[in-house]
Amino acid sequence: MFFKSSKINEFRLWGLLLTMLGMGLMVLGTAGIVFFGQSGKIVAGIGLVIGLIAMLGSLAIYFWAGMLSTSAVQLECPECHKLTKMLGKTDRCMFCKTILTLDPAQADITADQLEQQQISGMSGNH
Ligand SMILES: [Zn+2]
Repeated sequence: MFFKSSKINEFRLWGLLLTMLGMGLMVLGTAGIVFFGQSGKIVAGIGLVIGLIAMLGSLAIYFWAGMLSTSAVQLECPECHKLTKMLGKTDRCMFCKTILTLDPAQADITADQLEQQQISGMSGNH
């Protein structure tokens, strides 16, 4: 994945980016007619078609993200104690971006160990 965020948030981000791209291309295409007249119509046509495809793509991504989020595992983040959702075996917390995993082989620390660390860390400060 490209960004340091949870997968669901990333799907939403890509959906948004594609929508913006699609709208941008449509606006540019329409502007092409205004600025270049007759010859701009070809550019406008291409812009509109690509823009429409991008918009449809973003719709598909939104739909897919919606489907995925219904199958996502809901759990309390051990780091910030907020209710987050994760996709697959490894994902990031939606709020604090901590990497969470359900696979014990991938984890270098368990939730219990983390809690122990936080408790000992707190008592160490005083
Ligand atoms: Zn968190």
